[in-house]
Parts: sequence; C-alpha cells; structure tokens
Amino acid sequence: MVKLIRFLKQYTGHIAGVIILLFMQVLLDLYLPTLMADIVDIGLVNEDINYILKIGGFMLLIAAGVTLCAIVATYLSSKTAVGFGKILREKIFAKVESFSLHEFDKFGTATLITRTTNDVTQIQQVSVLILSMMIVAPLTCIGGVIMALRQDTSLAWVLVVVIPILFCIIGVTLKRGLPLFKVMQEKIDKLNLVLRENLTGIRVVRAFNRIEKERVRFDDANRDLMNNAIQINIIMAVLMPGMMLIMNLTTVALIWFGALRIEDGTMQIGSLLAFIQYATQILFSLLMLVMLFIMVPRAQVSAVRINEVLEIDLDIIDPEKSKIADSEKGTVEFKEVSFCYPGADQPALKNISFSAKPGELTAIIGGTGSGKSTLINLITRFYDVESGSVLVDGVDVREMSQKTLRAKIGYVPQKTVLFSGTIAENIKYGKEDATLEEIMHAAQVAQATEFVLEMEAGFEHPITQGGTNVSGGQKQRLSIARALIRKSKIYIFDDSFSALDFKTDAKLRAALKSEVADATVIIIAQSVSTVWDADRIIVLDDGQISGIGTHQELLNTCKVYREIVASQLSEEELA
Ligand code: ADP
Ligand code: MG
Repeated sequence: MVKLIRFLKQYTGHIAGVIILLFMQVLLDLYLPTLMADIVDIGLVNEDINYILKIGGFMLLIAAGVTLCAIVATYLSSKTAVGFGKILREKIFAKVESFSLHEFDKFGTATLITRTTNDVTQIQQVSVLILSMMIVAPLTCIGGVIMALRQDTSLAWVLVVVIPILFCIIGVTLKRGLPLFKVMQEKIDKLNLVLRENLTGIRVVRAFNRIEKERVRFDDANRDLMNNAIQINIIMAVLMPGMMLIMNLTTVALIWFGALRIEDGTMQIGSLLAFIQYATQILFSLLMLVMLFIMVPRAQVSAVRINEVLEIDLDIIDPEKSKIADSEKGTVEFKEVSFCYPGADQPALKNISFSAKPGELTAIIGGTGSGKSTLINLITRFYDVESGSVLVDGVDVREMSQKTLRAKIGYVPQKTVLFSGTIAENIKYGKEDATLEEIMHAAQVAQATEFVLEMEAGFEHPITQGGTNVSGGQKQRLSIARALIRKSKIYIFDDSFSALDFKTDAKLRAALKSEVADATVIIIAQSVSTVWDADRIIVLDDGQISGIGTHQELLNTCKVYREIVASQLSEEELA
C-alpha cells in the first residue's frame, strides 16, 4: 500500500485540502455540545431569551460550517481516490503491455484482469475511507476526551470501563475477519478464471456436452465466494449492532449516574447532555477506527497483488544503448541457439544454426511440437535464447530495441487474432497510415478481396470480438494481409496456410512470390507441397535440425524428410 501511495504525488494539493477541511470540521463539531450545555445551564436557567437566541444562532452557523467542510472534503477525497484508481490501472496496463510471453504464462489472464479491475477498486474505496477517517477518528477521539473532561471529570470512569470492552470486541472481530478478507480476492480470481474459460471455450463446452459439468464448476467457485462473503457479513452483522448496544448502554449509564449527581446538585443538566454527546462522539470515532482496521488489510491484500504485477522484473527489456544495424538488409541468422521453456525439463530447441537471406524463401517443416513456433518466437524476441544468439541484420536481437526489431518483421502468427473493428481497420493494424489502395493491394495478394467484396459492407464490414464472424481460412488471409501491408524486410508465416484450400493456397503463394521477392521469407508449413520450391528447407525434429537443404538434397540425405514426404505424396509424385 505504502509503495502505491507514491503515485498520489499529483494529488498533494487535494490531500492537503482534505486534511485542513477535516481538521476544521472536527474542531467545529467538538464545540457544539459545549455551546448546547451553555444554552441549557445559563440561558434556560436564567430564562435569558436573548442569550439563547444568540448562542443558538451561533450553533446554526457552526453546524453550517461543519456541513460545508464535510461536503468539500468528501468531494476532494473522492476525486483523489478515483484519480488514484485511474493512475493504478494505467500503470498496471502499461506494465502488462511490456510483459514477455514468459510473464503472461506466469500470471495467467484471469488474475491480471481481476488485478486491474477489482483490486484497484478495493484500493480506491479504501483510500476514500482512509483519507476521511484517518484524520477524523483520532482527532475526534482525543478532542472528545478533552472536551468531555472539561464538562465533568467524575463521570469519566464510565468511559474507562467501556473503552477496554470495545477494544476486546474489536480484537476478536479482527482475528476472525482478517483471514476471510485475505482469501476474498483469490476467490474472485477463481471465479473469473472459470468464467473466462467457459466464455472463450463455449463451442467446445457445447460440443462435448459439458454444460452441466461446467455449471457445477462455476457453481463451486461461485458458492465458495458466497460463503466467504456470508461469513464476513455475519461478523459485520454481529459487530455493528453490538457496538450500537454498547453505545446505548453507555448513554444509559451516563444518564443514571449523572442524574444522581444532578440530584446532589454537583452537576448541571447541560453538562450531562454535553458529556453524553461527547461520549457518543468518542465511541463513534472508535467505530470508525475499527472500520479502518477491517478495510485496510483487505486493501493491503489488493495492494500486494498489484505490486506483484508492477514490480516484476521484466525478462525482456531493451538494452541501454541499442545497436542499429548498418544497413537494412533483412538477414536472419541463428548461431547455436538452445532454448528451454521455464519449468520444462527438455529443451524446446537444441543447437539451431542457420541463416536466411533477403530474396530467399526459407521453409521450416516438422511434426507438431517439434519447436517450429518456438523458433519463430525467438526471432520476434517474445522469448530470449538460453545460449547462442539470434541475429537480425547482423545484430543480436537482445542488443536492439524491441520496437526497431519488430518494425522490421511482418509476422503472421499460428493462432490468428483479429480485433473488433472493420476489416479495413484490422488490415491497417499493420500500418496505421495505410491508404485504401494499400489495403486493397494487401488484400489482393492475400487472396482476401474476393470474399471481402462479397460481404455487405466490403472493407467496412465489422469483425466481431475475437473474429468469430469470419471462417478460419478467411481469418488467416486477413492476418496475412495485415502483415503484408507493412512492406517489411522480413516476413514470417507460422503455419499460415493451414486453413486454406489447395487452390487458394497455390494462388496465394504465387502472388506472394512477386510481392515479397526481395524480402527474407520464413514459412512454417506442414505440407510438402508448400515447401518443396523453397531455397532452403529446415527439417526440425524434436527441437533439433535433422537436415537443411533444398527439396532434392534433403530427399537424398535426410531420413526424417523422406518420411514426411512419403507420408504425403504418392510414389508417382515422388518420382
Ligand atoms: P510446433 O510449433 O512445432 O508445433 P512449438 O514450438 O509450439 O511446436 O512447441 C515446441 C515444444 O515446446 C512443445 O513440446 C510444447 O509442449 C512446448 N511449449 C510450447 N509453448 C510452451 C510454453 N508457453 N510453455 C512451455 N512449453 C511450451
Ligand atoms: Mg506451432
């Protein structure tokens, strides 16, 4: 929490205002019972109407002052807290944006969402409380005691008895309540996780008739959260009336013993009334402190969770002095690269060396899980190598800024992602200032024009969230157009033709050939028909290169390649 508070710097003025206003509010508030005692003990006793009116008017003025202070202070503290929430969300979002895939794997999406939304809201709510109560509660408590003693000292023993009882109750509550508050956020995380998995996987859930099972899973998480909240509420339900009871009993005791002293003639009625009011103010301020004690630990949990995100050391950071490649060439070179996913016992890539040059088509082929996508992730620096180095334009990718590196690359990921927006906007994602001609051209090369123009609004046709209103093959073609529009020096296609029919695939690759003729092209493919005319085919097997060469060379030298070919082509085609 303390670490987060530094973000409040720009609200220093507001906070100072809140403190001053609340200070004034409490002081004025504490003065009211004394004035009332004067009215009763002096004005009423002497039947002095003028005095009563004078003091009464003064009291009205003070009450108006109290109200004004309270309103402005609440406004300022709310503004500060909401601003604080906004800053926190900004910081988290910015940090998460710079996460490498590694850190995403570590946290998971569900908890990152809860941390950005619910946890920040917790902190925001508590900051309002802290801002107002931290001043009001202790000040009222101390001031109340002083003012009460000024009225009468002999009734003070009632407070001396009541306050320890109050502290006992507070202690018991905190002991029972704190653990419950701490697990609350985790339970929200869990609910979020189940919900997200269900919403994104709704097709699978339905197809496998898992609706009932998933409902139970959601129910469990939901009930868990409810039970926790109920337990918290039970504690609160006992605490609040309990506190009220103690307050009322205190009043009864004060009236009882005060009345005895009034009978003796050692105390005046006004003093007693004032004393009772002060006692209520004191107990009320203690109640506020309890609220703080309950709310702050819950916010503390949220603060720790937010700090975990903000303070994680990023794996992949830009070098202090980034090297700039001498000339924009577009070469990609792997030098004895090995890579292991965190937590995996087998390296995903072992000793990979090859180079790809402009004007060449390099194809990577291999079974699923052989490490093809992993290899690509190292070029775009989504992960860092364990040993060896990946060079782009002759410079190690770790010595370049990520922005420069990625600006060189037109990347089509294996798992196509489109954003909600129009088709044109999705293609423009690759180049912000693209003209309509550029968009049309990219779509033309990607063989997307035909189906786009068949749509009602053509390029202005909206894509739904997650791109669910276009087919897999259409998505792939839009994603290819998005990469092509960048006019990069390096193009990477990670299994980007898998959802295309044979004819479209052939047409696309023919169009591509002239479009990216002088760029470095790396294509990952499953089928031999896609790769056989490549300048260089890399055969990956279990994270290792089992052969590099042209189709003909590999047929003669590489057993794994022959097996792949044999499994896909008929004898006739082989010959
Ligand atoms: P391919 O693209 O050739 O099908 P991948 O490169 O995606 O294969 O995966 C290679 C290996 O790395 C697989 O064994 C897979 O289980 C593992 N792997 C892939 N991604 C991750 C990840 N994020 N964390 C841990 N292991 C992974
Ligand atoms: Mg893959």
